[in-house]
Amino acid sequence: MSYQDYEIVIGLEVHCELKTESKIFCGCTTKFGGDPNTHCCPICTGMPGTLPVLNENVVEYAVRAGLATNCKIAEFSKQDRKNYFYPDLPKAYQVSQFDLPLCYEGEVEIEVNGEVKKVGLTRIHIEEDAGKLLHEAGEGSLVDYNRCGVPLIEIVTEPDMRSPEEVGIFMQKLRSILLYSDVSDCKMNEGSLRCDVNLSVRKKGSTEFGTRTEMKNINSFNFAVKAAEYEAKRQIKTIESGGTIVQETRRWDDVKGVTVSMRSKEEAHDYRYFPEPDLMPIITPKEKIEEIRKSLPEMPDLRKVRYISEYGISPKDADLIVASRNMADYFETAAKASKNAKTVSNWIITEIFSKLNEDQKEEGSIPFKPELLAELVNLIEEDIISNSIGKKVFAQMWETGKSPNTIVEEEGLKQISDDGALIDMAKEVISSNEKVVADYLSGKEQAVQSLMGQMMKKTKGQANPKKVIDILKDILNQMK
Ligand code: ADP
Ligand code: MG
Ligand code: ZN
Repeated sequence: MSYQDYEIVIGLEVHCELKTESKIFCGCTTKFGGDPNTHCCPICTGMPGTLPVLNENVVEYAVRAGLATNCKIAEFSKQDRKNYFYPDLPKAYQVSQFDLPLCYEGEVEIEVNGEVKKVGLTRIHIEEDAGKLLHEAGEGSLVDYNRCGVPLIEIVTEPDMRSPEEVGIFMQKLRSILLYSDVSDCKMNEGSLRCDVNLSVRKKGSTEFGTRTEMKNINSFNFAVKAAEYEAKRQIKTIESGGTIVQETRRWDDVKGVTVSMRSKEEAHDYRYFPEPDLMPIITPKEKIEEIRKSLPEMPDLRKVRYISEYGISPKDADLIVASRNMADYFETAAKASKNAKTVSNWIITEIFSKLNEDQKEEGSIPFKPELLAELVNLIEEDIISNSIGKKVFAQMWETGKSPNTIVEEEGLKQISDDGALIDMAKEVISSNEKVVADYLSGKEQAVQSLMGQMMKKTKGQANPKKVIDILKDILNQMK
């Protein structure tokens, strides 16, 4: 037996902080950071006698996320108490949803090795986030309730993923959809998107699932993939050596690169769920659902197809561009204003992506408007500047935000289109390079490249390379 004889089965529970201004049951801010316990009030710190009021925007955002992932939306839904005793939760229960989640039966398409595959979503429900424990040496444990009561959606997938790689692809896709729907900033480093990875293995051909373990609270795509890789191997090794898998909660230790057992898995009945008596059921009429559906932007999959057909860009480039809504919008505005959409996509994928990477900037912080990228592309398309001058202009645009026309004007970068001047220069280069010319005339066609190089140098790259070659060949061929 070997690893190849096993199939890996993975389902995810993804927690995503919604970008509402205020918390789910009180008016406190949801802003990240702040001094500990300064974004709190009696409601979100669970003082006796306080009553929660549901923030309407939370429902709207959760419905947006549900519609964007092809879920059905429940017109009648309710909230429940999930009871557990831990200091990050001052009420000793979390308001969540148990049997009637707001969204259910959705699906997300991912592309694995060139093939489209559907990952089912069991449900999306709303709940409140807990506080943060800080374990300080010498001071014992401290608790910060700023995050307590920040609205979350929990997205639960079916056990449909079959490799760690699919986890990475799914998470990227989900993040992109959530960003498009504008429900969360999805900042992994601030914990606004985190996931639990449930994983089991089974012999290939088997129809029953194996016992699963759950790796909790993973806050990077990379860690999720690595945790799944490690855990699959660990489970297979355990089974192969005659052991059994214990259903338990584990933790990913990125420093050691291993998963570590935390506790045996809790069951739903451990939480003693019961309907939240302080909150009304959530009624979402059909008309409201349709209104929200209409307000959603075009999702990345549809954009990809449209960009390929409408602008003629390659599927690979389209994938890269539609991954972020900001970039997709940027591309489309530039493409509309330019003479060649394909060139626009090339500039984005090569120059803009690498600049953003260099500057460690997020998409959206491109220092000039898409119309200016279109202007640059047009200058090249119209042969006013060469491609290599275009790169210099681009670098300056990035530094100064100036328009390419201004830069070309100020620096006198226009392509030399005066044939007379180029012919004179070509004659000069030819007469001072006897050996190269002799090579060319004896049949070494590529010798002309060296002459062209000299001319480009003399013109500081401002000559049209094609024109230069034509002129050189004209003169040389007359010498044959
Ligand atoms: P619980 O409510 O106890 O956490 P669920 O049945 O709701 O358990 O499943 C939680 C997650 O675990 C889901 O994402 C589901 O797809 C996944 N899952 C369930 N069974 C398995 C299994 N045998 N192997 C891998 N993942 C599983
Ligand atoms: Mg669970
Ligand atoms: Zn509060």
